[in-house]
Amino acid sequence: MTVSHRLASYGTSIFTEMTRLANEKGAINLSQGFPDFNGPAFVRSAAIDAINAGHNQYARMSGVPPLNQALAQRWRRLTGQIIDPDTQVSVTNGCTEGIAATCLGLLNEGDEVIIFEPYYDSYKPCIEMCGAKAIVLTLAAPEFALDHAALQRAVTSRTRAILVNTPHNPTGKVFSRDELTFIAELCNRNDLVAITDEVYEHLVFEGEHVRLATLPGMKDRTITLSSVGKTFSLTGWKIGWAIASPDLSRCVRSGRQFLSYSVATPLQHGAAEAVSAGQEYLDGFLRDYRRRRDLLCDALEEIGFVVYRPAGTYFVLADHTPFGFPDDRAFCMHLVDRIGVAAIPPTPFYDNVEHGRRLVRFAFCKRLETLHAAIERLRGLRR
Ligand code: GLN
Repeated sequence: MTVSHRLASYGTSIFTEMTRLANEKGAINLSQGFPDFNGPAFVRSAAIDAINAGHNQYARMSGVPPLNQALAQRWRRLTGQIIDPDTQVSVTNGCTEGIAATCLGLLNEGDEVIIFEPYYDSYKPCIEMCGAKAIVLTLAAPEFALDHAALQRAVTSRTRAILVNTPHNPTGKVFSRDELTFIAELCNRNDLVAITDEVYEHLVFEGEHVRLATLPGMKDRTITLSSVGKTFSLTGWKIGWAIASPDLSRCVRSGRQFLSYSVATPLQHGAAEAVSAGQEYLDGFLRDYRRRRDLLCDALEEIGFVVYRPAGTYFVLADHTPFGFPDDRAFCMHLVDRIGVAAIPPTPFYDNVEHGRRLVRFAFCKRLETLHAAIERLRGLRR
């Protein structure tokens, strides 16, 4: 009994592996990105109230009406665009399922989708599960800048879509308006769909978060995906959504209805409260994360890493080579075994693995006490 050809090469996700090792060895877990603190009480109690009020049966496939409405209103606040909650908002089981549904509903055998490495681990297998091909372009350290010429060359008659994750996991890069404008122009000129993963949209420390859907010509050719997991520290809820034109929404929904069909009903009611949250919540959220980012990045620099301070997300990439290990995996194994800290070796996010070997990813979605304790342990590293 063996795993299918399409999936056999992927093995177990690096997030699963590193969290398992962290638990087994009692290491402080800065690997898989999940907060070690609770999501806000107003969101949790809305979900508990929904359970007690009897919202416990299958939800409407595209989402419970109060959540679709709250998301449409939120989209208007963020972009000025007026959308129809019933035909343009599709609730998904997290952004990860949204991407799978999008690929299944959009791609045909032989289609190509352009993605950027380091890529989030699910993108490539999702594209390949549809019989399509991922064309991978490198965002190279230290700037992780978009190579405009390489992107232009990568577009062929088979290209169907460009998948953009901004703010970007794991580099912390926030795509600039110029980069996104270049992508938008390519999409318009070649009749491509843009798929955007914007789950870190409220974690931008430097610069601005530009939504591809707001650039000229992009409103009806962009599928914008996001979720409550990161912004509301509820990664286990797995509540996400796709916002798109009615035509593109039909694609997402065709895929979704045969995956999980619907999304946990009471959690959707909780999420409706979350996405209605005011600016005050978001400001406090960003302020707390800026403190965490600066604490960890300053300490990593002091300890001897070359740190690529992130403009967004709750991850930081650092160059571990001052410590003399041959590659990212060897370094992370030493870290979890001997130092007592778990981190992510980034080569699983690369086709061109030589770009990832020098790097390590730390997550800072943790209480300050947790970060302080991890920093104390990391001081045990010897150059
Ligand atoms: N998004 C999380 C991270 O990057 C991982 C989620 C998962 O384990 N699939 O760490």
